[in-house]
Amino acid sequence: METTFLKGLCKHCHQSIDFPQEYNGQKMQCPHCGKETYLIAPAGPLPGTPLAKDFFNKAIKAEKSKLEMQRLIPCKDCGHQVSRNAEVCPNCGCVFEGKNARVFRYVFVGILSLLLTSIILWVLRAGLFSI
Ligand SMILES: [Zn+2]
Ligand SMILES: [Zn+2]
Repeated sequence: METTFLKGLCKHCHQSIDFPQEYNGQKMQCPHCGKETYLIAPAGPLPGTPLAKDFFNKAIKAEKSKLEMQRLIPCKDCGHQVSRNAEVCPNCGCVFEGKNARVFRYVFVGILSLLLTSIILWVLRAGLFSI
């Protein structure tokens, strides 16, 4: 059987890589920059290869969630780009609110608004009864 070659782009150096069809969607070392990249033909997986397509979709999803994890947010104090998961800004040293603190605040605000609503209801009912 003759091997069909596809052309893909390295996501790091954006140079084209020729690879055999059966490597479509797989992770490989880029021959140009040496970094790991997914071999993805711009045209997408060939028809009649559902497995290749599945692999290809999974690879993209994994890559996306990895990027999501690494997404940077600006420090509220100095504007320096800091990883989402960082607890301290490496630039100015300010401490970010941890996940637990955030959850605690939501719970606190929730209880507070519930309390406030019941007080308002109580006052309204008391007002109605006094008439
Ligand atoms: Zn490359
Ligand atoms: Zn900062």
